[in-house]
Amino acid sequence: MAKINLEEGKIYCAQCDKEMNLVILPHYEFEEGIDLHRVQSYKCNSCNNLFFTEEQAKELEARTNELKEYSFGFKKKLTISGRSLVLNIPVELADHAHLKAGTPVKIVPLSNEGFLVRKIS
Ligand SMILES: [Zn+2]
Repeated sequence: MAKINLEEGKIYCAQCDKEMNLVILPHYEFEEGIDLHRVQSYKCNSCNNLFFTEEQAKELEARTNELKEYSFGFKKKLTISGRSLVLNIPVELADHAHLKAGTPVKIVPLSNEGFLVRKIS
């Protein structure tokens, strides 16, 4: 949050009432999990409060949406075949990893959240 003084063109921290400075953040997640690089923001030097102007926020939203569009992820449901669970791999993902029927792969557990499927070369 911040107070904007349009006459002076200055932005003041809503917590400390100090003038905020325009900075470039190396990394910022406008939306959780979507890492943006080199993000313009106003920052309070005393409390590290961040503030984005409407224009800056719009740009961050656009960049976030663009990244989401191009990020490679698929939501799939597991099916069952006999005693095994089956995961269908979308053709775009298979092409991306150069996988085809008969490709030997290794399944490596990562954590209790999932596993990694890796080609054996
Ligand atoms: Zn502050």
